[in-house]
Order: sequence, then C-alpha cells, then structure tokens
Amino acid sequence: MEILVTGGAGFIGSNFVHYMLKTYDDVQLTTLDALTYAGSRDNLEGTLDTARHRFVEGDVCNRELVADLVDGVDAVVNFAAESHVDRSINDSKPFVKTNVEGTQVLLDAAVGADLDRFLQVSTDEVYGEILDGSFGETDPLNPRNPYAATKAGADLLVQSYQETHDLPTVITRTCNNFGPRQHQEKLIPKLIRNAVRGDRLPIYGDGSNVREWIYVEDNCRALDTVLRSGEIGEVYNIGTGEEMTNLNVAKTIVDVVDASRDQITLVEDRPGHDQRYALDTSKLESMGWEPTWSFEEGIRETIEYYRPV
Ligand code: NAD
Repeated sequence: MEILVTGGAGFIGSNFVHYMLKTYDDVQLTTLDALTYAGSRDNLEGTLDTARHRFVEGDVCNRELVADLVDGVDAVVNFAAESHVDRSINDSKPFVKTNVEGTQVLLDAAVGADLDRFLQVSTDEVYGEILDGSFGETDPLNPRNPYAATKAGADLLVQSYQETHDLPTVITRTCNNFGPRQHQEKLIPKLIRNAVRGDRLPIYGDGSNVREWIYVEDNCRALDTVLRSGEIGEVYNIGTGEEMTNLNVAKTIVDVVDASRDQITLVEDRPGHDQRYALDTSKLESMGWEPTWSFEEGIRETIEYYRPV
C-alpha cells in the first residue's frame, strides 16, 4: 500500500509514520510537510533511512507538487494543518489557507487519481461544546473558534467531493491527543516542561474545561483501522471516554513529576473556550478498535519523553 501522508513531520503525523512503518512491512510512505514552526524532521528520525519512506518538503497548497505526489498512491492521509486554537484567535489567515485551501488542493488532485481512500484527519472541535452526553457522527457541526471552523469547512468540502466526484473519502474526528513529538506550545508538553522546571503552570479560567484524551499511539491504530476498513463516505469518531478537567490534567502532571501544586496558576480565560467535548465512539468500537492506554499510563510515558527538557 502506497500512502501520501501530509503533515507527517508534525505531532500525530510523525507518530502515524512511525506506527505504520513499524506495523507493516509492505507499506510505502511519502511524507509531504512544509516544515512550519510546528513540524520538524527530528520527529521522523529513524524513519528516513528506509526505502519505504521518503520526505518531501513542500506546501499542500502547491497544486503541481500535490498532483504529482497524489498520482500513483493508493491513499492520502491528510494531517497537514495549522492546529493551535490560540494562534487561530490572533490570526486565522494561515488556518484558512492550509486547513481549507490545502484540503481543496488535495481533493482536486485526488479527483484525477485512482485512490482507494482519502482519509481526512479532523477533530471533535468541529461539533462545538457539549455539556452533557456525547456527540455522534451525524450531529450537526457547530465550530466555535477559527481553528475548528476551518476544520469543519474542510470536512464539508471532503463530503462534497465524495458526493459530487465519487471520491472514496473517510473522515475521522478525534479528541485531544497526547504523547511524544508534540510541539512545546501545546497544553501537555507545556505543563510537563513547566512542572519539571519549577515554573508556573498556566491554566485558563477556573480550570473546569473538560477534554477527552487519547494517547497518540491509540489514535494511530484507530486511523489505520478507518483507513483499511472504514466505509466510503463515512465519518468515524475516535475517543476514549477518558474525560479530564484541565485542572486535573495539571494536578496529575505535577504529582507524577513530584512538583508543587502551588505552581498551578489560573489565568484569564481565552475567548470562545468550549467548556466540554465528548464523543460517542461506538461506531469505531464496532470495528474492533478499543483504546489500550489509560490516561495514567500514557501520561507517565509522555512525561518520561519530555522530562529531560
Ligand atoms: P501539528 O501542528 O503538530 O502538525 C501539523 C503539521 O502540518 C506540521 O508538521 C506542519 O509543518 C504541517 N503543515 C502545516 N501547514 C502546512 C502546509 N501548508 N503544507 C504542508 N504541511 C503543513 O498538528 P497535530 O497535532 O499533529 O495535528 C495533525 C492533524 O490532526 C491536524 O489536521 C489536526 O487538526 C488534527 N487533530 C489534532 C488533534 C490533537 O489533539 N493534536 C486532535 C484532533 C485532530
């Protein structure tokens, strides 16, 4: 199976590359990544010394390059994105460019190619917040920050290309990932670094915002499951049911690294901060997938990865 992985030098994309090369002998990968501030070749260390993986530095909005790379592959997995909500509040332009236009460029290239699957990697944030219960795949999209809006726009484009061009698309919507190779600006790496250094751990608002967490390796396995067995035109939620308030995430990290809970500092909330996300994942579970890492196990592994900071 030949796969074009966009955004493969970022957090989840690079973990997916490592996972696929480790799991399958017959998989051939091309990573396309613009190496923005969020991407790094270091994330792909150990994967480029095999003929089964090549790295191309480039932009998903580059039509010629993308058409060239999509031609001949069996599948596209689209991770490439601007992914940090805080940044999207300050400047949404690069989010529209990469997340919406980049997806459109990929879809256009896919129309002329002979793909088995186009997997769009999306997020639980497209549904917006939910105070009770959980979102199913057919619930309406209600994005409430610019990042989520661009991801929702991309999802709708993907679905429209499936309907109008008969593209073999699948969409995944995953909860918050954590694990190795995540950029230091994101919540968990930042909290670990600050806890270890004795710095304050900034938490928005009163810390009561709830997120569902998945260890990135479990997400990679779920993405692989959907890529191989997902039905064309379908959406699959990926989650664990492991809900944590941001305050409890910070407390857990502080306790594991043996820092002081006094380092946790509540700071002014960000605008449009969704209170809670939660996903119904029964559809994916019916395909035989289930998470194997608890938050507790995953966070210990993650702390070991970042501890030397
Ligand atoms: P990330 O920011 O760590 O990685 C994004 C990668 O995309 C980087 O390597 C970056 O260089 C690359 N990129 C950015 N713009 C590009 C462009 N124009 N052309 C080519 N490459 C470009 O993000 P992540 O956390 O790994 O997220 C990957 C995908 O998963 C995103 O689509 C995101 O929306 C989705 N997602 C992430 C989470 C999460 O918790 N991190 C949860 C659900 C969904």
